Amino acid sequence: MRGYIIIPKSIPCRSCKYCGSRPIIALSGKDDYVVKCPMNSNHYQTPAGLIDIDDWNAHNIPTHEFEPEDDQMVACYDSKLNYTFFLPA
Ligand SMILES: [Zn+2]
Repeated sequence: MRGYIIIPKSIPCRSCKYCGSRPIIALSGKDDYVVKCPMNSNHYQTPAGLIDIDDWNAHNIPTHEFEPEDDQMVACYDSKLNYTFFLPA
């Protein structure tokens, strides 16, 4: 069965950082799910497996939030393509 699941409003999830769409859950393969942008398959989608809204959220933080306004804040880009901020003590 292929189809989409609309994520209930009660579940906090970010909009697609590229187009602002609320993500959907789609079946990928036989029993795996992805959280993805409903508008464009090239926008971020989570790895197939369990429904991972946390992963979606981690990858769809609006980019303007990444611009450090504090000079002491250092943005690092790690291997999972997540930004991590380190604040010097
Ligand atoms: Zn999108």
